[in-house]
Amino acid sequence: MDYLPLFLRLDSRPVVVVGGGAVALRKVSWLLKAGAQVTVIAPEVHAELAAHSAGGAITHVAAQFSPAQLSNAVAVVAATDDTRTNSEVSWAARERRIPVNVVDDPQLSTFIFPAIIERAPLLVAVSSAAQAPVLARRVREQIEALLPARLGALARFMGERRQAVQRSLSALARRAFWERVASGPVASHVLSGDEAAAERALARELRTSQLTATRTGKDGPLGEVYLIGAGPGDADLLTLRALQLLQQADVILYDRLVSPQVLERARRDAECIFVGKESGEHGQQQRIHELLVRLAREGRRVARLKGGDPFVFGRGGEELEVLAAHDIPCTIVPGITAALGAAARAALPLTHRRLAESVTFVNGHQEDSGTGDWRFFADPRHTVVFYMAVAQLPEIVARLRAAGAAPAHPAAIIEQATLPHERILRAPLERITALAAEQRVAPPALLIVGDVAGFAPAEALSSIAGAGAVGAVGAGAIA
Ligand code: SAH
Repeated sequence: MDYLPLFLRLDSRPVVVVGGGAVALRKVSWLLKAGAQVTVIAPEVHAELAAHSAGGAITHVAAQFSPAQLSNAVAVVAATDDTRTNSEVSWAARERRIPVNVVDDPQLSTFIFPAIIERAPLLVAVSSAAQAPVLARRVREQIEALLPARLGALARFMGERRQAVQRSLSALARRAFWERVASGPVASHVLSGDEAAAERALARELRTSQLTATRTGKDGPLGEVYLIGAGPGDADLLTLRALQLLQQADVILYDRLVSPQVLERARRDAECIFVGKESGEHGQQQRIHELLVRLAREGRRVARLKGGDPFVFGRGGEELEVLAAHDIPCTIVPGITAALGAAARAALPLTHRRLAESVTFVNGHQEDSGTGDWRFFADPRHTVVFYMAVAQLPEIVARLRAAGAAPAHPAAIIEQATLPHERILRAPLERITALAAEQRVAPPALLIVGDVAGFAPAEALSSIAGAGAVGAVGAGAIA
């Protein structure tokens, strides 16, 4: 290990920065965040540094560097673009045993700035010991994505209650208590911005811990459920929050539409339970409800993972009702619904100023929607996305035609959108059923109808440019 990572307290302590450009500005910003009393030495400074100086946040000494300027400093940063000056600063600082950082020059530095992930008061510092700063920054980006934005609020919430908990629990019970707070319902509430609910959950955790300690309690630790949208299939389309909660859950209940790629992103030792419904399995939803309640009551953190978005044809609402009835905390994480994933893959805008001003998501499986709706669906300036449409495709097409849709009304089918075996088929309404049969389209697939289904950006562009036809983007072919 070439460096020891330390966190230096700089509150109201004098730090000297030599140099006044953009690089100096970046360092000054961090130093100010840490509350340092910053003096910038440079004949001229960046406009923002000048503004800081005018506002009294820093002191600007408009002069060349001279060693005497370091007399009080507890740390020095050299950020000029002149190597002579930088090395003078370094020598002067080292002579006085003041820690010095010369930007991009580890040889002349006695300390280095790490890449910082800030969730103050929580901080993560990453360093490659100046060997590969780009790599350190990449690691920082990866950690950034894993840490919830409100993690700092959680750290503060815990910090503010530390002493009270200290008084009411034994050292042994405290550790388990804070573990549960950091990764259970209390944390979920703070992270979603509901401190009042977090406070109530904390009180309950505290009661549980006290009862467990005296062994008289029946109240188990508090479990919770995360109702997570897993997106259309491609694991990179998970939200950051989905990823964070998948890393945390003890048990994962997943549907048929949740791709193996997505499941791979879950915690390695999480128990994964398949609860997908095959057609005809009527009691399954009821069994899922019972399982959710039982697992949460056992104190487990349960991720209920659903394809797409939990609230778009996902029965998320029903599960939420059951959880609420049993007073089980639930965090809802939206997912990219299949329509949005498919539209992106097919480069098919669901609304477009010239082509469509509204869009409807329809359950293609149900045959009981009224005819009024269908006249609206048949309007080519209205986009309709039919979910669960494969089995009913001929009926849907017939109803659209009966409601006034033209034979040439554009349509597209996107099968397994965002997954490795994705297929995109486009044809006018009069040919789409035959094309689907010929290509043996199978679920999961979506049917999209309306003028946008014939959208061809290249043609639009070439007509604007007045050039000839370019390619055949989306012209009744299989991509
Ligand atoms: N909650 C899900 C929808 C569940 S209903 C969501 O928001 O996407 C199941 C239907 O969704 C399937 O029959 C199919 O029509 C559609 N679907 C789900 N994933 C899909 C995918 N990757 N490609 C195409 N259609 C998909």
